[in-house]
Amino acid sequence: MLAPINERWLKESVERGMAFFMGQVPDRIPAMPLVIGKAGIDHGYTLYDFYTKPDLGVDTLLGAKMMYDCEMLPMWMYATYWAEDYGATIKFPTGRMSAPALVEPACKTLEEAENLEVLDLKELSKGPTMQRHWVALERAEKLLGPYFGAWSFPYEVFVQVAWWVGPERACLLVAQEPQLMHRLLKKAVEHCVNVNAIVAEKYGSSFIAASSLLSSNTLSPKQCVEFNIDYLSDMIKKSLDAGAGPGIFYHLCGDHATDWELHKDVPMTPATLMHIAYEGKNPIDLHKVIDVYGKKCCILGNVDTTLLQIGTPAEVYEASKQQVLIGKEAEKGFYAGTACEVPPFMPTANVFAFNQAVKDHGALPRS
Ligand SMILES: [Zn+2]
Repeated sequence: MLAPINERWLKESVERGMAFFMGQVPDRIPAMPLVIGKAGIDHGYTLYDFYTKPDLGVDTLLGAKMMYDCEMLPMWMYATYWAEDYGATIKFPTGRMSAPALVEPACKTLEEAENLEVLDLKELSKGPTMQRHWVALERAEKLLGPYFGAWSFPYEVFVQVAWWVGPERACLLVAQEPQLMHRLLKKAVEHCVNVNAIVAEKYGSSFIAASSLLSSNTLSPKQCVEFNIDYLSDMIKKSLDAGAGPGIFYHLCGDHATDWELHKDVPMTPATLMHIAYEGKNPIDLHKVIDVYGKKCCILGNVDTTLLQIGTPAEVYEASKQQVLIGKEAEKGFYAGTACEVPPFMPTANVFAFNQAVKDHGALPRS
């Protein structure tokens, strides 16, 4: 379905995108807007098509990368991975719905959750999520050839419990039945490690896209460490031991005023990307992020997704320029980015403005 891929361009784009991970300095800051569902819309499809046809999804992601001439990775995924596999119901997007969403959690009772057995690699492989994920990986490998890298999406340990018992109940359990919550989180770690291991087993490595999301808005700093960050660290460590990585993406989605600094001891490889979206209602000040994380790993920028949706290209250009100028100070490297997935129905002109600002202001001195 795609126009022919220019191999020289692809090579250059992938090399620019990978340079920091390999301890090198690229010619300029790579532009990595988190374009996912919008890629489908840009190609004239619906989000339903994009999320139910992983091969088509990967095609449109690579098409968007070509169209925007940026370093974004064509990683097809959605936030409600691994819910259906345990019996939860999700709804694929129709109309203005922006992504697949949870309808019904997997377990009706806490007893059911306690007795739930984590799927082993074989069961996981045959499940609905992995069946789609395999299609996406195979398609990406076919299109990208030597420039392909496999990815896995464990999402968040805490969120996996939320797919089992429901998001509100997961948060309530922290206060009401902390011991039960710990038992469920241990199971969720086991599940998430399997998710990474199964991809690594087939491809020899896996870029782990992990997130920290639900706990930061609802728990105290101490609870965030005890019920989320410690489990996230454990999950990543065990996944690396199982052959996944070396790429790790920590996506601290949404407002992280409570716990953004508390992730500083999570496992880091040379190919680690830390992404902190908001502090309160505003994108977090990247100077602060660079102070805490800049010596440890690469940083992904956070242009406000609301601005992308409702701002003008001039405003988006200015915000993107500012983040690139700050990002140049990051010792281990900086990727220009958006605070979360770009809104699927945002104006395309604003993605163009974002990328143009990175190209105009992102030049790096060759070392
Ligand atoms: Zn996000």
